[in-house]
Amino acid sequence: MTNHEDIHYLKTIAKRYARTRRIAHFEALDVVANELDHQHWRALTVAWEKGWRPSPAQWENMERLSQEVAPPKKSEGEPKLPFFLFPEETQGSIDGHDYTLSVAFEVLMGGDGWSILVEQAPSEAPQIAIYRRAKDNPILDLAFREKALAIAQAAAEGLRSRIAADWPRRSTKPDAEGHALHPLRSELSKEWHCLHCNGAFSGAQMAANMWHCPECSATPIDIFGHPFWEAAL
Ligand SMILES: [Zn+2]
Repeated sequence: MTNHEDIHYLKTIAKRYARTRRIAHFEALDVVANELDHQHWRALTVAWEKGWRPSPAQWENMERLSQEVAPPKKSEGEPKLPFFLFPEETQGSIDGHDYTLSVAFEVLMGGDGWSILVEQAPSEAPQIAIYRRAKDNPILDLAFREKALAIAQAAAEGLRSRIAADWPRRSTKPDAEGHALHPLRSELSKEWHCLHCNGAFSGAQMAANMWHCPECSATPIDIFGHPFWEAAL
């Protein structure tokens, strides 16, 4: 889905880029900003607020970057790649208004003049973007907005359970002593620490939030059983 008035689209490209390359989200945002001739992401958002938009050629470039993020097509006999590396797009309509639903690491739903972004971590509230303040923008209608949110949330729940289904059981259900297994590396612990906000959480809390930080929503890569960085402080 390409909506040229939607900054969420750029953010989503950056997020997918960050996850597939295992770099920090803010670094990926800067990659996207650089590709669009801005010094960094903050400069891009300031320009965006003032009405700057990428040129058609730059959007094409973004399409290319978004394709690069997707891994090469798998050939016969290769192990199956995780489904979420390939965004799944479906079309639908609510009360006669068309929308596109794109599901990958997160759920991005968009229609004429609006979009809704629901992240993998339940701790993150859905983000609604309105980029056309005309009376006929359906997202301004409460009943429509609730229906759209319900569809996006249901897609996010589906995404979460599909991801969790690929994890070891100890990642979704800690043992009797509270030990849980990190879903991306073989680390077993009762307590988990976030590299970003230094918060400490139980395995049950981590499992409930898809191994994203319950406090700051950092991704599972930044969650550790042992706060190794504290020794360096
Ligand atoms: Zn955190």
